[in-house]
Amino acid sequence: MNTVYDVAIIGAGPGGSTTASYLAKAGVRVLLLDKSEFPRDKTCGDALSPNALKILGDLNLIDKLIEFGHRLNGIRLVAPNGNELVAPIPPKHGFVEHLYIAPRIKLDDLLLQNSIALGAEFKSNVRVTDLRVDSNKVTITGKSANKEQIFFANVGVIAVGANTALLQKLGFLSKLPEFAVAARAYYNNLPNLDDLMEIRFDGVPLPGYGWIFPTSKTSANIGAGFLRKSKKLPFTAKEILDKFLDHGPVREKISLGQRQGVVKGYPLRMDFATARVHSNRIILVGEAAGLVNPFTGEGIDYAMESGQIAARVLIDLATTGDYSFKALHSYDRNLRKRFQRLFVWTTRLRSIYINEWLLNPLIRAANHEKSVEKTILEVLLSYRNAIQALSPSTLYHVLTNL
Ligand SMILES: Cc1cc2nc3c(=O)[nH]c(=O)nc-3n(C[C@H](O)[C@H](O)[C@H](O)COP(=O)(O)OP(=O)(O)OC[C@H]3O[C@@H](n4cnc5c(N)ncnc54)[C@H](O)[C@@H]3O)c2cc1C
Repeated sequence: MNTVYDVAIIGAGPGGSTTASYLAKAGVRVLLLDKSEFPRDKTCGDALSPNALKILGDLNLIDKLIEFGHRLNGIRLVAPNGNELVAPIPPKHGFVEHLYIAPRIKLDDLLLQNSIALGAEFKSNVRVTDLRVDSNKVTITGKSANKEQIFFANVGVIAVGANTALLQKLGFLSKLPEFAVAARAYYNNLPNLDDLMEIRFDGVPLPGYGWIFPTSKTSANIGAGFLRKSKKLPFTAKEILDKFLDHGPVREKISLGQRQGVVKGYPLRMDFATARVHSNRIILVGEAAGLVNPFTGEGIDYAMESGQIAARVLIDLATTGDYSFKALHSYDRNLRKRFQRLFVWTTRLRSIYINEWLLNPLIRAANHEKSVEKTILEVLLSYRNAIQALSPSTLYHVLTNL
């Protein structure tokens, strides 16, 4: 007799493993599948926001995180003209006033091992190729070393990140969504790194940015990303990163450093505002639901938080065992309540502000006017709705600094 799991989760990134942890903790029988062997790397800037740290705290994982993560206490924003804004992480009730940079090869394994310790069953090297839904279960087909494997569950959670093949096959995506692309490399032996997350709008095409995220006092994750607005754009993410690394102030910063390992690029999906996130017996979590901040490219905390929300909904529905499209609509409703406005306004903000005509005066205004600095930081950290950056007061300060 084949086991029918309560929940099968496809993808053991932060979204899948967080969902698995909360479900397993509540006594739900969880199967977690991933095509990779762990620990595995994931191309990323490795930055954890205060919101991500809040969820890691809720999972009791901060003590383990600080064994390999590097703490940063502030942000440096560099305008296209080279002007800088340096500021500490602003206070907000319930959130820490710092960030961590935590290499994904370690972070994702920490989250996965936590879900296993709480009771989730994990199978690696299983590439899921299909989910078939019938009246009382989901049949999951996977491939492992070229052999077909079949699993059964009452409900499926798809947390495959920006990999759209499975979602296209299941009809969740009628056309490919808009993507951003980004690439990163690790550097060692960098002198004079401070405890700041550095985001630079110089040396890259806009809308996009380059970053220097210190992973220790002498090493950093350095990368660049941009929104592929037009298929005709004649650059790859790696070419953008090369251009950024060759940009004067960046070249100077890394002149004594050595690159470790290879440069890696990967797409980012940011289309949550228009994405489908559920169907009969299936829900989508994390980047599979388009949950990457359209302004910052940050997706770890959204993946984890959507996993938290998914687990809560599935635990509620377990009492009736009804995972129909209609019943799972409560997941869609909860996600929209939390993220819809944020995504709609952040996308609008990106198209208005991310150009040199407005970014230069915005950073200049923030250096003179504390309320503008506060707005920028709080919008970047998703503490405030992005619409605040379009308030009459902020616009007045920007326009008077043109
Ligand atoms: C260059 C770059 C820099 C970034 N920087 C940051 C940053 O600094 N901070 C931040 O918060 N976010 C950042 N992001 C975004 C962040 O990496 C993602 O949004 C986040 O990893 C999403 O988590 P997830 O769990 O949804 O998916 P993922 O982390 O992508 O995990 C998906 C998992 O699913 C597995 N999988 C995929 N398909 C299948 C299949 N068919 N069968 C079985 N398993 C499958 C994969 O092996 C993987 O383990 C960055 C992204 C990029 C590309």
